[in-house]
Amino acid sequence: MSFTVETVDGAARAGRLRTPHGDIPTPAFMPVGTKGTVKSLHPDEVRALGVSILLGNTYHLHFRPGDELIAELGGLHRFMGWDGPILTDSGGFQVFSLRDTLLRVDDEGATFRSIYEGASARFTPELVGGIQARLGSDIAMCLDLCPPAGVDRRELEEAVRLTSAWAARQQRVERSPGQLLFGITQGASDRELRSRSIEEIVALGFDGYALGGLSVGERREVMFETVAWAAPLLPAERPRYFMGIGDAQGLLEVIERGVDMFDCVLPTRVARTGSALTLYGRLNLRNARFGRDPRPLQEGCECPACLRFSRAYIRHLVNQHELLGLRLLSLHNLRFLLDLTARARAAIERGELAALKRDVLASLAAGEPT
Ligand SMILES: [Zn+2]
Repeated sequence: MSFTVETVDGAARAGRLRTPHGDIPTPAFMPVGTKGTVKSLHPDEVRALGVSILLGNTYHLHFRPGDELIAELGGLHRFMGWDGPILTDSGGFQVFSLRDTLLRVDDEGATFRSIYEGASARFTPELVGGIQARLGSDIAMCLDLCPPAGVDRRELEEAVRLTSAWAARQQRVERSPGQLLFGITQGASDRELRSRSIEEIVALGFDGYALGGLSVGERREVMFETVAWAAPLLPAERPRYFMGIGDAQGLLEVIERGVDMFDCVLPTRVARTGSALTLYGRLNLRNARFGRDPRPLQEGCECPACLRFSRAYIRHLVNQHELLGLRLLSLHNLRFLLDLTARARAAIERGELAALKRDVLASLAAGEPT
């Protein structure tokens, strides 16, 4: 067994997932290294932040520089200089979220225009499995059909049907040594369709299970409610992955409902807009009120930004478009979410997750004391 649940606190779990490149304590936040890099950061910095697993994007790596080339150079770990665990997504999310580039979906797979050269390309479960085997990730994901929020029931049902059929085919594709394969469930917040999807995907039998097709534009309460009834339908002895959540509240909400892993581009994306994630909510460093602020981004944070630099200095860097500003905010934002995830794990071990969540939500709602 590659996964062990060590402690439970209500529905929340603290566990450990074993992969060929090391163990991952869960709950685990996975920073996104879209194109084989967590934007602007050296892998040693990423490691020092406390990252235990990175996410790589199959879609982007397939087109640039190409999975064959990466395989020739020893696989994704060696290519990007990261020897820890890597999860690769299937590329399906990019195919289906870039709606303008989607040309056709049929039983065989999805045809779309690549965002790189505009040429017509096709993803099938066989190809996506092969790409991930060549990349040599520790965890591969099944190709799924992820519709946007608000599609009609017929379209949702078709997404569930194809996701199951594709998962069954991808399961037969040869993997890299020790590579785990996770199944993805669809069905949005529709009880019947989500339950059907879970039943079909679990019947196939995977190393872990993801809740896909959420966090795609539906109301947050609906999303959390769905996780609350859907997570317990997944096998307790396998890791559960919620795709695409990474704000402080969202992270605690899904952990509380029994999710073990999650990823999000939010920390590095908001860094690029000059914002810092804190326990008081987001700080936009462009705001004039930080002009003479000598405090660190977050009191008590031990990231390389907070240990040495003031908000005033980081604001100056952001305003002058200095690269160091972007790097410091990325380091801080990742550290903030990793710290929060580690605190959640420790709280689960003490049976105090509810208290931690209450305190963090109160702090986020109150904002920074002036
Ligand atoms: Zn910090």
